[in-house]
Amino acid sequence: MTQVQANARTFEVRDPGSGRVVGTYPEHDEAEVADAVAAARSAAPRWAALSFAERGRMLSRWRAEIARGSAELAAVMHAEIGKPPADGKLEIVMGLQHLAWASKNAGKVLGPRPVPSDLMTINQRATLEYPPLGVVGVIGPWNYPVFTPLGSLSCALAAGNAVVFKPSEFSPEVGKWLAEAFAKAVPGHPVLQLVTGSGATGAALCASGVDKIGFTGSTATGKKVMAACAESLTPVLMECGGKDALVVDADADLDAAADAAVWGALSNAGQTCLGVERVYVHEAVYDAFLAKVIAAAEDVRAGSDPAAKIGPVTMPSQVEVIREHLRDAVDRGGRVVLGGLDAIAGQFVQPTILADVPEDALAVTDETFGPTMTVARVADMGEAVERVNASRYHLGATVFARKQGEDIARRIRAGGVAVNAFVAYATIPALPLGGVGDSGFGRVHGPNGLREFTYPKAITRQRFPSPLALTTFTRTEFTDRVVAALTTLLHGRCR
Ligand code: NDP
Repeated sequence: MTQVQANARTFEVRDPGSGRVVGTYPEHDEAEVADAVAAARSAAPRWAALSFAERGRMLSRWRAEIARGSAELAAVMHAEIGKPPADGKLEIVMGLQHLAWASKNAGKVLGPRPVPSDLMTINQRATLEYPPLGVVGVIGPWNYPVFTPLGSLSCALAAGNAVVFKPSEFSPEVGKWLAEAFAKAVPGHPVLQLVTGSGATGAALCASGVDKIGFTGSTATGKKVMAACAESLTPVLMECGGKDALVVDADADLDAAADAAVWGALSNAGQTCLGVERVYVHEAVYDAFLAKVIAAAEDVRAGSDPAAKIGPVTMPSQVEVIREHLRDAVDRGGRVVLGGLDAIAGQFVQPTILADVPEDALAVTDETFGPTMTVARVADMGEAVERVNASRYHLGATVFARKQGEDIARRIRAGGVAVNAFVAYATIPALPLGGVGDSGFGRVHGPNGLREFTYPKAITRQRFPSPLALTTFTRTEFTDRVVAALTTLLHGRCR
């Protein structure tokens, strides 16, 4: 990593549990972002010129470096965002699975491949390949500060790009740790540059002339990023917010469904883009399910001590959003069946479950991003699907059902749906991850994720002159008659 020269301005990062300052970082400005992009651009051609196998070997060294340091990296996450270290280690290994897949499969997915020509172009040998874009800007969030950026970094680097990475101002040390691990594992290829700072640094990256921005964050910021990138026609990948639902059918395994709902809603203190924020339960099992969810959630406590299963809410401003959603739900007739407004103390929010919340309440329509969930009764799975799809967010969903699981999954509008497990689609490296609607567009992970950081390039080579010379002013009347006959033969007989 070539660390760009820091200016005089800095920002502090605080442990959200204690409020203690845990680090001070440079607020990189436009000129410094430009320096980082220039450094990445000068390193990019040598990296792109390596074979997929050579790059894969280097990325494997980075993967090993991260794996060896995972306890230290999880401790950094705990200090910066309050995530319990065991959950941090789980996040790291999930990220490494995707890095391994991208490193091993980039050649197969992106390398040159023959493409068949057709009757009219039989004299052409056709090849499709996916060259890297050049320099990619990756803007990451703080809630999964390893897993989320690794999704974009793995794909972008394995495809042969250089990257300038801007981690969230709440998790700069995690970003720095990853970049330093890369520099140590892959010396001589400074293709992972780091810039730190607030939204202004991210905005400077959008305007810096990079060849694509891979953005992960809120929908509101995503719109600003898109608007800024439109000025220079910089393409964007948008991994934005969610309001994911979990659906429980009458024949579901209720213990498994309750366990998934509780983990999906409460883990990481509910600060998960794919977190369960809404639950729709068949009326036949609603009461039994609700009792199980309450019992399981009562066992979860927010705190900073080693026994606490969830940490604090990382951003002070988010506590106000959670409070507003709870207040609005109660004002509109919602019932607090666990936790509630009294369960908020400083940045710690204890598990909160709401029932009978109207569908137009903020707790149902907007991203709450806290350890809360609404549980609603539905007459059948048709109504459940309708309510799930009524959201403007369409990131992921979970279905618990014995007979109709996959059928229900197909009717839900979302980038990924897991049946009888929580979030499984995000953990399978060959599957794409991303959203629809206000949850964004474009994909990380799998073949789609690799192609996201490339452009499709078509190459043809004429093997022999065509008996029908079409693209020439010396074309004959005979050729035109043959073309007319072929047009009828190939396309004119369909009824
Ligand atoms: P934000 O949108 O607040 O920030 C995301 C990143 O964008 C941060 O690095 C932020 O910097 C930066 N940024 C802020 N303003 C600008 C700007 N004008 N131009 C460029 N960059 C800018 O999101 P959070 O960090 O709070 O993350 C939580 C959100 O991310 C949730 O909505 C969550 O659902 C979503 N998310 C989506 C995922 C997905 O896969 N779809 C995965 C994980 C999270 P800074 O922090 O310094 O302000």
